[in-house]
Amino acid sequence: MRYVSTRGQAPDLAFDDVLLTGLARDGGLYVPAAWPHFGPDALRAMRGLPYDEVAVRVMLPFLGGTIAEDRFRALVRDAYAGFAHRAVTPLVQLDQRLWVCELFHGPTLAFKDVALQLLGRLFDHVLSRRDQRVTVVGATSGDTGSAAIEACRDRERVDIVILHPQGRTSPVQRRQMTTVLSPNVHNVALQGTFDDCQDAVKALFNDQPYRDALRLSAVNSINWARIMAQIVYYVAAAVALGAPDREVAFAVPTGNFGNVYAAYAARAMGVPVARLIVGTNSNDILARFFASGTMQAAGVVPTISPSMDIQISSNFERLLFDLMDRDGAAVAASMDEFRAQGRFAVSQGQLRRALALFEGRRCGEEETLATMTSTWAESGYMLDPHTAVAVHAARASSLDPSIPVVALACAHPAKFPDAVERATGVRPGLPRHLSDLFEREERLSVLPNDLSVLKEFVRTRSRVTGAQA
Ligand SMILES: *Cc1c(COP(=O)(O)O)cnc(C)c1O
Repeated sequence: MRYVSTRGQAPDLAFDDVLLTGLARDGGLYVPAAWPHFGPDALRAMRGLPYDEVAVRVMLPFLGGTIAEDRFRALVRDAYAGFAHRAVTPLVQLDQRLWVCELFHGPTLAFKDVALQLLGRLFDHVLSRRDQRVTVVGATSGDTGSAAIEACRDRERVDIVILHPQGRTSPVQRRQMTTVLSPNVHNVALQGTFDDCQDAVKALFNDQPYRDALRLSAVNSINWARIMAQIVYYVAAAVALGAPDREVAFAVPTGNFGNVYAAYAARAMGVPVARLIVGTNSNDILARFFASGTMQAAGVVPTISPSMDIQISSNFERLLFDLMDRDGAAVAASMDEFRAQGRFAVSQGQLRRALALFEGRRCGEEETLATMTSTWAESGYMLDPHTAVAVHAARASSLDPSIPVVALACAHPAKFPDAVERATGVRPGLPRHLSDLFEREERLSVLPNDLSVLKEFVRTRSRVTGAQA
């Protein structure tokens, strides 16, 4: 299995290089040169298997022999052993035709754990085989930092430094990061805003000699291995609901398009997916695209589903590559146009092909709250605001009602207690494995918004050979 860049100008790579590279050298994203395929018998044979085993079967073809099967199975088992539910991503039925797939049983209560718990272990495995180390650096407004920290904690070959703006994250979000006391985890409370944190991290990466010396790395959302790990729960959910003998649809709360692209990949691999319903909040660039064929950037407005408050969806480029018949030059031209003018358009034929599978649905703030309220009243089930966007989108869909729809539940309601309480009148409590979060010891370093101080801090924490020189 080889991987090609969506912009056609970077070298083809094997899985282990794609894992460590992230963004392709031509600015594109890596995708498999061809999709592995599961026939009906292979899908039927997955019925009733534990999640780990489905995961190994689904992901193994993507490794192209770069990791031995037994070794990979051990990594997968270890990655999901810490999840608080034996099914890892269980299905819960809300009504006759609607299910939710709970992706929030990982250590930080959000779906990013499903991919990142495996990603950290894959990094460690490949780096140790190459006798290399990396220094992971990132900025967070509170939401994604903890998933990255949990992915990297105690990893032999990785040190991680995460910046958050001092005093500007919620206490739960801060504590999910700062109570991880592993020696390779370093939390920085920067005296500044989230933008200052992001600018500081960008400045570290832009200093090429520094970047090389510390082997700086990011665990960002365009990494192919994250998509790969997310394909698994689509296959598992579809099989549990009767695939390959019954079609299913998915409704996905969407930001960077990584999650719903994994569903697209599952379909490309042979899972009978009737429809992919893309749910957006008021930041509805994708819903507008599917209505018009034009991707047109607009300003970001803050919502109660903040993980979907995005201006552009970076993983959409992977779908565009297929819509443009894998013509890297055409994708590069569209992306250049988008960067220069804030918009690009696909042809009517390409839009029609997209709409044969995708449907875009926008869910505003009032609709999000109303969906949380009604679902609580009708099913006794608490939705977090992101999941509510998906449930709203599923209910608004024009899909044939005989086809079951699975809405992806991407965060635990306790992660967004204020919105949940507003909609249901009940304040959700933290699950058992986090119930002592406020008694745990914290460790963090407060740093001024000064690049030279930050550089020195990261340099002295990195265990990359030569970083201390
Ligand atoms: C990251 C995230 C999303 C968006 O997922 P994408 O893969 O970026 O589309 C939705 N909901 C929650 C809770 C998230 O953390």
